[in-house]
Amino acid sequence: MWDLLKRSLKMGRLTEKHKEENAPHLRSFQQSWHIRHLDCGSCNGCDWEMNALLNPVYDLQRFGFDFVASPRHGDILMCTGPMSTQLVQAAHETDAGMPKPKVIIAVGDCSIDGGVFKSAYGAKDGIEGTLKVDVEIPGCPPSPEQILDVLLQMKKEEYGF
Ligand code: SF4
Repeated sequence: MWDLLKRSLKMGRLTEKHKEENAPHLRSFQQSWHIRHLDCGSCNGCDWEMNALLNPVYDLQRFGFDFVASPRHGDILMCTGPMSTQLVQAAHETDAGMPKPKVIIAVGDCSIDGGVFKSAYGAKDGIEGTLKVDVEIPGCPPSPEQILDVLLQMKKEEYGF
């Protein structure tokens, strides 16, 4: 136990901070897009619709998208929920942890303007103001088709696919 503690104090932190200059040629939207999902206090309705994107009906991965567990691997940040006040810091840290370029998408009415949680004491009426939103997908919840349409549209129009 003491040996382990001494060794970890001596070695310090082993992970490196992200540096943009490490691999700038890899940070491009010309390849597959990785999505980091952040639940900002949703009722989970939107999250389940996003989850359905991975089933065999929508099969999101065949279009070159996938969900990732770490913001460090994300190109797209998809947020659901009205931005609960206790999640503001986590949202900032997730945003800061993502390499550029990145796209932030507000998924569902709650993330756009608070939706059914509008004016609730513990929420911020949407994620704008905490994060800089690039794309909005309205609906309560939006269907998987709507979400997929927006993703494919982004690839096609905004980034030349
Ligand atoms: S938009 Fe509707 S489904 Fe989505 S988190 Fe808000 S209340 Fe739930």
